[in-house]
Amino acid sequence: MEVKTLACDLCRGVVPAIASIRLGNGRSRKTQHRDLCAVHLRELDRLLRPRVRSAGGTATGRERAIKAGLEKRHPSYWAKVEGRILNALKGTKGPVGAAVLLKKSRVTSSTFRRAARRLAEAGKLKIAGGATRWRTYERT
Ligand SMILES: [Zn+2]
Repeated sequence: MEVKTLACDLCRGVVPAIASIRLGNGRSRKTQHRDLCAVHLRELDRLLRPRVRSAGGTATGRERAIKAGLEKRHPSYWAKVEGRILNALKGTKGPVGAAVLLKKSRVTSSTFRRAARRLAEAGKLKIAGGATRWRTYERT
């Protein structure tokens, strides 16, 4: 009995192919065929799959998405940071500037801004002064 098997075009030696891919742009008549094994099919799939994009539209990996804050932080993270900021506000009288709170709470400025906004939305913090360096924070 004779059995014909498709072998992967990209592998060295005879590796059974699981798919036959037509390579072309849909217009040209000169399309090529490739018979691919599981490994090479996955490789091609990975090459053609669109990458994750940031809000700005640039391609980004998952790690960069986390760094850019596109992925949400765990609530326990914010509880910790907000606690530090509220602690830093203890013992202050009236509105204080960000510099004081940054030093006392020891969080980075971007983390501080995001946490302060969350606290203000929750009604725990009063922010005055708009987006200026004279912006002040006060516990409600
Ligand atoms: Zn292969």
